[in-house]
Amino acid sequence: MNWDDFATHAKDVADWGADYHKTIRDRPVRAQTAPGDVSSQLPDSPPEDGTDMANIMADFEKVVMPGITHWQHPRFFAYFNSNAAPASVLAEFVASIIAPQCMLWQTSPAATEMETRMLDWLRQGLGLPDGYQGVIQDSASSATLAAVLTMRERALNWQGNVQGLSGQPVLRIYCSDQVHTSIDRAIWVAGIGQDNLVKIRSTGDLRGLDPIALQDAITRDRAAGFVPAGIIAATGATGMGACDDLDAVANIAKAENLFTHLDAAWAGTAMICPEFRPLWQGAERFDSIVFNPHKWLGAQFDCAAHFLRDPDVLRQTLAIRPEYLKTHAQGDIIDYSEWSIPLGRRFRALKLWFLMRSYGMEGLRSRIRNHVTWSQALCERLRALPEFQIVTDPILSLWTFKPAGASDEDTQALVEAINTDGRIYLTQTLVDGVKVIRFTAGQFDCEERDFDTAFDTITEIARR
Ligand SMILES: *Cc1c(COP(=O)(O)O)cnc(C)c1O
Repeated sequence: MNWDDFATHAKDVADWGADYHKTIRDRPVRAQTAPGDVSSQLPDSPPEDGTDMANIMADFEKVVMPGITHWQHPRFFAYFNSNAAPASVLAEFVASIIAPQCMLWQTSPAATEMETRMLDWLRQGLGLPDGYQGVIQDSASSATLAAVLTMRERALNWQGNVQGLSGQPVLRIYCSDQVHTSIDRAIWVAGIGQDNLVKIRSTGDLRGLDPIALQDAITRDRAAGFVPAGIIAATGATGMGACDDLDAVANIAKAENLFTHLDAAWAGTAMICPEFRPLWQGAERFDSIVFNPHKWLGAQFDCAAHFLRDPDVLRQTLAIRPEYLKTHAQGDIIDYSEWSIPLGRRFRALKLWFLMRSYGMEGLRSRIRNHVTWSQALCERLRALPEFQIVTDPILSLWTFKPAGASDEDTQALVEAINTDGRIYLTQTLVDGVKVIRFTAGQFDCEERDFDTAFDTITEIARR
């Protein structure tokens, strides 16, 4: 394959991609395959001789496509959506062709300067104040790990990286019992240990952490000789969309001199709409905030926007400058690899530029508003039927329900039956120990009719 062949095949792939998306509603959302179906069709060893692209594409259709769960399906109502708007896909294609490494300003001046500006566009879009600076991390998990390492180093006076953790005081980090597992894993990887992640009980309609219990835990820990290092709050946690009272958390953090990190991986996108911002009232007081444009906003995976009030504490934690990375560039430049754990970095700012320019902020807002409106309307339609129980009310487009009076086994059986039907895709979660069905909407191109199909599918299969 050479670059002349590339041009021909790339046009074919573009046609294939447009057709895939235009007919995607005809496919079952979840792959209807059994374990081993795909691997049994793949040869055990790599080929010795090359073959042409037409053969490879034919096998791709035959072997791979039946084993795909269609994340870009408009009736994907499971997990959280991981969108890939067509404008962002084009940007990724272009970025793959240039394939730059964006670790230093000098290795990719355009990517670096675009990253700074795109994150500032997003900051303005979210209504965050001037003064935050942003970096694109590969995932929210990485941003949270970077924030936890910063909490650790700040609390240990930057000695953890130098001396290691043995012999250091035992650090404590606080969060609610609703947070995503990426918080636990950041704590493990940072060497702080699960026992020192203190989970505060969540309360109230928004299932935020109880601030009085948070203050008590910190006071008790100090008395016991632990060193509190930081608080991680959530806006739109994964299970049911829990939102902490960020002002209350920020007040405690200020009084206790703790570093604060906000995980708004999913719900952050909704903050481009001013009417949803009360959910994260107080966010502008946090030291570190992450949200994933690769979820609801429409940027192709991967793209996590990480905002910092003072990037110097992050740089002090992560930057390392061996001679071979010194560029001796003059002037006011940023080397973004000093802000993140991996050295090599993809050109991710380009897809944000294509995305925001192609749809405009108003175009993006109207999609988010539609998703929330249609999802909440579906919730009300089910609430009106005696055979369903709404377990947690909508937070943005996320809510949970179950068949009234159903056992956990019956609820799980309904989820399985719905997903095997294929018209829609849902997942289950636990609320106060009870199994419930979780509904969330946010596929970039979903339409109101997709929610009618969801209503029909859920009611038909539940009645069966
Ligand atoms: C999706 C999600 C994450 C993890 O995001 P990655 O980018 O996959 O690491 C973390 N927190 C919340 C609340 C999420 O919804």
